[in-house]
Amino acid sequence: MNPYTIFADIVAGRAPSSKVYEDDDVVAFMDIRPMTPGHLLVVPKVAARSLAELDPVVGGKLFQVGQRLAAAMRASEVGCDGVNFFLADGVTAGQEVFHVHLHVIPRTPGDGFGLRGRPASPRREDLDYLAASIRGALGN
Ligand code: 5GP
Repeated sequence: MNPYTIFADIVAGRAPSSKVYEDDDVVAFMDIRPMTPGHLLVVPKVAARSLAELDPVVGGKLFQVGQRLAAAMRASEVGCDGVNFFLADGVTAGQEVFHVHLHVIPRTPGDGFGLRGRPASPRREDLDYLAASIRGALGN
């Protein structure tokens, strides 16, 4: 599969972006089609297509930088009073750009952004069954 994504060009400086942060591991820039004004993307410099391909240390860095950006957003003229993190891993999860990225989405009352879903009310034994299955898959 073609590993190219536009984010590789942005990381390399070959494509334009409105950058807010950069260090050795990650870069953060404005989303070109923001869900709300100020919507940022935090992107690892290594071109991992999925969470499974991403070094967990770099994954942790995405969250750390996301935390700093969330605080900066709240203090900036973005003027939000809430923040959502969102990460789509896989087509079914809504991933469109196959270079891992963390969305940092500022929230204001009535901004129209939200997750659609149908929360269920499973029985405790069903929760326990899947918890055991996931624990098993975690291994050591
Ligand atoms: P995904 O659905 O993969 O989680 O989100 C991809 C995000 O990348 C979308 O929010 C989309 O607006 C953003 N995006 C796609 N192409 C570009 C681009 O060329 N520049 C910037 N800054 N964002 C992009």
